[in-house]
Amino acid sequence: MSFDSLGLAEPLVRAVREQGYTTPTPIQSQAIPAVLTGGDLLAGAQTGTGKTAGFTLPTLHRLAASAPKRDAKGRPAIRALILTPTRELAAQVEESVRLYGKYLPLTSMVMFGGVGMQPQIDRLRRGVDILVATPGRLLDHHQQGTLDLSHVEIFILDEADRMLDMGFIHDIKKVLAIVPKQKQSLLFSATFSDDIKALAERLLNRPQLIEVARRNATAETIAQKIHPVGRERKKELLAHLIRQGDWHQVLVFTRMKHGANRLAEYLNDHGISAMAIHGNKSQGARTKALADFKSGDLQVLVATDIAARGIDIDQLPHVVNFELPNVPEDYVHRIGRTGRAGAEGQAVSLVCVDEELFLRDIEKLIKRSIPKESVPGFEPPAGEKPEPIVLGRRMTIGVGASKGGRPAGGGGSGRPAQGGHNTGNRSAAPAGSGGQRRPADAGAPRNGGAPRNGNSGAPRNGHGNAGPRGGGSRHH
Ligand code: AMP
Repeated sequence: MSFDSLGLAEPLVRAVREQGYTTPTPIQSQAIPAVLTGGDLLAGAQTGTGKTAGFTLPTLHRLAASAPKRDAKGRPAIRALILTPTRELAAQVEESVRLYGKYLPLTSMVMFGGVGMQPQIDRLRRGVDILVATPGRLLDHHQQGTLDLSHVEIFILDEADRMLDMGFIHDIKKVLAIVPKQKQSLLFSATFSDDIKALAERLLNRPQLIEVARRNATAETIAQKIHPVGRERKKELLAHLIRQGDWHQVLVFTRMKHGANRLAEYLNDHGISAMAIHGNKSQGARTKALADFKSGDLQVLVATDIAARGIDIDQLPHVVNFELPNVPEDYVHRIGRTGRAGAEGQAVSLVCVDEELFLRDIEKLIKRSIPKESVPGFEPPAGEKPEPIVLGRRMTIGVGASKGGRPAGGGGSGRPAQGGHNTGNRSAAPAGSGGQRRPADAGAPRNGGAPRNGNSGAPRNGHGNAGPRGGGSRHH
């Protein structure tokens, strides 16, 4: 199949061809014709599947095919609104809009928090056809009367599950209340929890359903490996691997922000250029780190899961789990950063004795065991005893200290937080990463850091029930 055969206008096909894409990905070959019909769409697709072009191309096509709208002041009116959970994703989606729409007379803008309002107000004043935004800042503009969404024809929620995870549900509802009732709506989500289904029911009208394979089923192009290592020697081992392998463009994951900072410092002190990227950094610093990393000027980018969401770097050769995530699905997201679009990738995890239970949960999720390979000179010390892992405001145990307490299969994927061998109550802290998964990490909170929904400490799907795949209560 080719892009021509999907019914897209010539200027779009030309722009896509210039990108070097010859064949639509599965989500594209299904979503593009579906969106072109004008109907609603519920699509299950993760980042890395080509979903952005899947909704951007037909949106551009439809807007170009109909007459531009003008607002009361005669300026181009916003006809398509794309909401994303994070600033980085918003920026990347808007970049795609510009890239694919380069031969069309349509304008776009990106809007997110953490940067000044005035330039955004100025840009809005000139009129724009397509707006890509994070929910918080969008609502700020609406409240200030600087934004008119009454002409929106196409409304897209990208990574809807992640938006709910981050506590944006109330903001999404507010946005739904200010966009026209009559519109085409598209909802993209990696997973379908009950909350996502409820949102889809509210938003979508007889949607077409599309689902492409999850990456955990399709990650054959990613070589995965575990390097067992002593707790205290991970940094050393990482520096060693980077030097020995002459690795460039290495994306390294840590669980917590301060860990990311400390690791970046260590690498810099040892002659390896590194920067940490997370929600506490200014938008300018994050944009610069990402640009330097993409251009190859920066060797290592150290990220927390939430900050890495939406980072789109083609054919990233190396992903390192400096620490295993306590949420198994995050492992899949992390390694999905490499081996994209058919390219070979390598995902290496540095695992110490404290993380054995996390590893077991991950292997259960991906339904395979990951090969272990000790690096000579860095073998874990004999007799090293597992210690609890501190996750934000709580502690959990990543090892089998109380294995018996874990639910047998099902009911929560055996996540440590539920197994009765830690704080026990999942609502004491988000299952994600202690206090880490909150809107503040993705965009500036509008209310001084208080959780948007007043309960960001609650389990991510509101009541800690089983998630989409029956086993996990996490959904993304
Ligand atoms: P996404 O899932 O939208 O984040 O896209 C993942 C990556 O795949 C992006 O870097 C795109 O540039 C790339 N991509 C999207 N569509 C195609 C295609 N048809 N062929 C090859 N690469 C693509």
